[in-house]
Amino acid sequence: MTKFIDLNLDPKVLDAIIEAGYDTPTPIQEQAIPHALMAKDVLGIAQTGTGKTAAFTLPMISILAQGRARARMPRSLVLCPTRELAAQVAENFEIYGKYHKLTMALLIGGVSFKDQDKLIDRGVDVLIATPGRLIDHFERGKLMLTGIEIMVVDEADRMLDMGFIPDIERIFKLTPFTRQTLFFSATMPPEITRLTQEFLHNPTRVEVARQSTASDTITQKVVSWKAASKEGSDKEKRDVLRGLIDAEAAAEKLTNAIIFCNRKSNVDIVAKSLTKHGYNAAAIHGDLDQKVRMRTLDGFRSGDIKILCASDVAARGLDIPNVSHVINFDVPIHSEDYVHRIGRTGRAGRTGDSLTLCLPYEEKYLEKIEELIETKIERIDPPEGAIREQRARRPRRDDENSDKPRRNSRRRNEKPAETQETAPTAEVVEAAPTPKAEVQAQPQPQPQSKPQPEAPRQQNNSNENRNRGRGGRGRRRDDLGPPVLGLGDHVPAFLNIPLPELKAPKRKSADVEEAVDGSDDEAA
Ligand code: AMP
Repeated sequence: MTKFIDLNLDPKVLDAIIEAGYDTPTPIQEQAIPHALMAKDVLGIAQTGTGKTAAFTLPMISILAQGRARARMPRSLVLCPTRELAAQVAENFEIYGKYHKLTMALLIGGVSFKDQDKLIDRGVDVLIATPGRLIDHFERGKLMLTGIEIMVVDEADRMLDMGFIPDIERIFKLTPFTRQTLFFSATMPPEITRLTQEFLHNPTRVEVARQSTASDTITQKVVSWKAASKEGSDKEKRDVLRGLIDAEAAAEKLTNAIIFCNRKSNVDIVAKSLTKHGYNAAAIHGDLDQKVRMRTLDGFRSGDIKILCASDVAARGLDIPNVSHVINFDVPIHSEDYVHRIGRTGRAGRTGDSLTLCLPYEEKYLEKIEELIETKIERIDPPEGAIREQRARRPRRDDENSDKPRRNSRRRNEKPAETQETAPTAEVVEAAPTPKAEVQAQPQPQPQSKPQPEAPRQQNNSNENRNRGRGGRGRRRDDLGPPVLGLGDHVPAFLNIPLPELKAPKRKSADVEEAVDGSDDEAA
């Protein structure tokens, strides 16, 4: 078996590796390091958790050990899609470069330009950056990329997802043609292949796992059920989520968890909901302040925070050892995200569990994921209490009312009103025996089905409608007592004037009758 000592790494790097507790390289390290040390371009297809960060930091430190940095001209550049990943790479350089005097700068958003400028001015051996921030510095004229000897692109497929490819192309063009490039991506979509063909020179392709395969050490399950309604499905999901956390913790499997949501807004909602229910949870997503994100991550790493609710971008590539569970609150829309998400657990040979909440409308995404990973994921039901608890509550609320509303409201529960779903169920049950939602949801026709005072109007619908059509005169008559027929006792004087011709109107009237029922002959 190959050991680090066999890889021709700088002796001081070897010391640092041993101190970090490693002696055997992972497959990506074993394959990539010798080529990187020979100054060759490397195309590494590896997901996070395979040790790919050390696969480029270890040879970089060994190479950069010779030579010195010049002001504003960094010697190497590592491009990362997110601030967190950049910070993590920087940590790796600190660990493995502890016996070298290499200088390093981290160019990420949320950190003042002034401090970063100072570092660059002094000259850095290693510049770690997110593409946007790097270009900002370049455009301010504070940075030259013509001294780059080694350039690393980490998580290239993520860069693609985040729309960074034009930036990456531009940065490639700003660096010398003679640079060495180490390029890492978990998947190789066509756009990424095109990029490698254009900017890598005869690279050594190193692939440690089949494209987009999930680690074998992760147990994957899909929790599927049919929600009572689409509008209330997120609430039901939150109930199921709590049920799952409780069940997995009771089985002594769950020690901590990352919960992924598709939308940032949902990350906040889920974190708040869990906190409200007494769980130790926090949110991390791109809209949060960098300091808050770092603090939250540190808290999760140290175990002070047990449940991290995250968006894809924020948690992508995060190296947090010992994550026992990944729970997908939503099925990811992009299949690759699924692989990245569940890769947060089962890292470096450890075991891990992944649970994906899936409602019928998400099945189509799940199918694509199963196609990608070439595995049929086991389906399980939600834990016992979670759903039944919620659905059982509705009839209970009805039980406290009369029989009639119960039947009606149960039918309504099939298509529940938003108010019902968004209200915290437990509180509604306890505090409101006649919930407002039910009162509001009474079917409109009910007042009409009450006994009506005026029988003739009910019998003669056409009259009723005609009355309504004239501005509801009929209703006013209800209030005035017995109906007045015709003009009542009063006969206006003009009606007593004799008509000169009576024939024409009579004929007209007969024609009309004939047209209506054709009964003219019989009448005659
Ligand atoms: P990465 O894929 O770079 O995110 O690394 C995943 C994890 O593997 C990190 O926690 C590293 O500390 C760990 N790791 C890196 N190299 C080795 C190694 N040779 N043996 C065991 N674990 C390693």
